[in-house]
Amino acid sequence: MPLDILLTILFWTLYPIGCIITVTVGKVPDTPESLLFEEKMSYKRIISCSHCGTTGHNKAGCPVYKRYIERRREIDPDSYLVRRYDAQKAKKAASAKNRRCTYCGERGHNRAGCSRLKDAIESFRVINAKYRSAFVDKLVNHGFGPGSMIQAEDTVWLVTGIDWNRVNIANKGQMMMFIVDVADDQNRLSKGVLDNRYWSRTRLPRNVTGYEFGVDYNIVVRTNENRIRSTVPPEFLDGTLGLHKLFKNKKSNLYSMKDMYGAFTQEFDPEAFDLGIW
Ligand SMILES: [Zn+2]
Ligand SMILES: [Zn+2]
Repeated sequence: MPLDILLTILFWTLYPIGCIITVTVGKVPDTPESLLFEEKMSYKRIISCSHCGTTGHNKAGCPVYKRYIERRREIDPDSYLVRRYDAQKAKKAASAKNRRCTYCGERGHNRAGCSRLKDAIESFRVINAKYRSAFVDKLVNHGFGPGSMIQAEDTVWLVTGIDWNRVNIANKGQMMMFIVDVADDQNRLSKGVLDNRYWSRTRLPRNVTGYEFGVDYNIVVRTNENRIRSTVPPEFLDGTLGLHKLFKNKKSNLYSMKDMYGAFTQEFDPEAFDLGIW
């Protein structure tokens, strides 16, 4: 068989395997740390200036370049650089006037400059802080959190941690509690090498939420208040943990005031959320 045909066959045989490996390896474990990292990554991009070389702005926003242009203007207001600078500024101002805010739909500003979005985020933070603090109280009342053990049928699970990012009033009932099957993972548990990739997750059971829907299991070993409270990140309780990410998620209805007909009618309303915990 000619070498090039052999290589082609090999390539198409191995290519799908390569894809599978890439997908598996590329999957970030869903831990609080990785979520935090992701959150930071998604809105902190580093830009650098081609004029002065520092980071944090580009040439169009460079204070050094601006001073340079102003000096040029005094010497020769008609110089090419001065005219180009002014033209670019005017163009930017015109397009800013014309753009439409993806949050409220108005023209003349974007999301970063949207006062309605800013108010909505703050208003959500306040109500979410209330929900979260009630959520923690509920855990404390039931002795439920890291260190407690739960039982469903004849399987016993140890609660190893809580994915605090997943606890918020806009998305209740998420799988936020990390658990390990005590029998299955005993070996690794005893060595202390249990990797969070092997953790399973669950949500609050009916006997904790008090609702008739949801999962059902019993808490067989309670944990103490101190252990629960010491794992709560402060930015969880003040409502800021994951806050901006929630409003950046295009699939969330917090993302925009746009209704199902495409009109921007859905003004943020904190009254629309109820404080029931599940
Ligand atoms: Zn600069
Ligand atoms: Zn707006």
